[in-house]
Amino acid sequence: MRGANTYLGSIGTTIFTVMSALATEHKSINLGQGFPDTDGPDDVVQAAADALKDGRNQYPPMPGVPELRQAVANANKRFYGLDIDWATEVTVTSGATEAITACLMAVLDPGDEVVLIEPLYDTYVPVVRMLGAIPRIVRLAPPNWELPREQIAAAFGPKTKAILFNTPMNPCGKVFTLEELTFLSELILKHDTYAICDEVYEHLIFDGMKHIPLMTLPGMRDRSMRIGSAGKTFSLTGWKIGYITAAANLTPLVQKAHQNLTFTTAPNLQRGVAVGLAKDDAYFASLSTDLQARRDRLAAGLAEIGFGVLPTHGSYFITTDFAPLAARVGFNGDDVAFCRHITEYAGVTAIPVSAFYDEPGAPKHYARFAFCKRPEVLDEALARLKKHFAVR
Ligand code: PMP
Ligand code: GLN
Repeated sequence: MRGANTYLGSIGTTIFTVMSALATEHKSINLGQGFPDTDGPDDVVQAAADALKDGRNQYPPMPGVPELRQAVANANKRFYGLDIDWATEVTVTSGATEAITACLMAVLDPGDEVVLIEPLYDTYVPVVRMLGAIPRIVRLAPPNWELPREQIAAAFGPKTKAILFNTPMNPCGKVFTLEELTFLSELILKHDTYAICDEVYEHLIFDGMKHIPLMTLPGMRDRSMRIGSAGKTFSLTGWKIGYITAAANLTPLVQKAHQNLTFTTAPNLQRGVAVGLAKDDAYFASLSTDLQARRDRLAAGLAEIGFGVLPTHGSYFITTDFAPLAARVGFNGDDVAFCRHITEYAGVTAIPVSAFYDEPGAPKHYARFAFCKRPEVLDEALARLKKHFAVR
């Protein structure tokens, strides 16, 4: 038979699926794929359960149910002071994953260039390539993941159509500062490009830092597509409800992409998320406070065992340098081998950070651990790692 799609034939199964399957196989504690081990708020789940029984189970409106689009517009105002018209500027998607693809489809033609920042989420490059566009990747360096400004400026050129970036950033927990966003906004204006802003961890931010949407900066309102995820904001990752806020000039294109991808998204889950977005400020504050305590618990334990723990200011994740520990116990494999090794022999799963790189030369001595788990689960994972790496 003739070969099917060449590009898809050349890439592997996502690392999150691979490592979760390995964790199940070895009954290890899964600190790999990022998902909480407790459900989100009861009232949100109850609202979705009630909505299943209220006789509105047919196709909801293509752009999303009005209640949720209104709730997204209100949240934009409440948290960032953005005035958004829910009817013309909000689109609901099946997860941020679909939202990223829809936004890229909305602006890219084949041959356009897209500036990306490495380490990057694993769908960015495949989708850009499948659309016939060209990734221009700039790499951040650990441990501080600062923006290499000259390289970013050099990545923008006459063919650049968009930049796609993530703040707070998976896997490294970087939170873009106002100064960095201002720098990016100047390049975006200078080169007349669009910005796709993956802000799924907007409410998972620590150390008193503030999430700043690029969309709030001068000149960015009509050029930015801002993506949120109910999975992260309400600890309901299986629901796959995402939302895009984009100006009225861009939203029709985003929606034409969405209508050709999934057309619409489960109506009861949308109604549940609308209840969630209307929750009081205390809910959103406690989400961060609670996660920050878990971050600190896992970070302290990993450091005690001998991992080099890199700072993380947002997201579900801690990046660790396992080189000092590996040297101590005589382990000399790369990050993929290390994550497999600890899954099999220590009973704890992590994600190799090289999975977040597309271009050659990725660092191979970092492992990412998720801390969105119950404290007792984090403690048990730490106890297992401690036992495994005890000086023998
Ligand atoms: N972007 C980033 C940076 C993520 O970490 C995730 C997590 N899965 C997504 C997008 C996708 O979000 P969703 O589950 O809502 O599709
Ligand atoms: N975003 C999650 C992570 O980084 C995983 C999402 C997925 O499995 N596709 O772990």
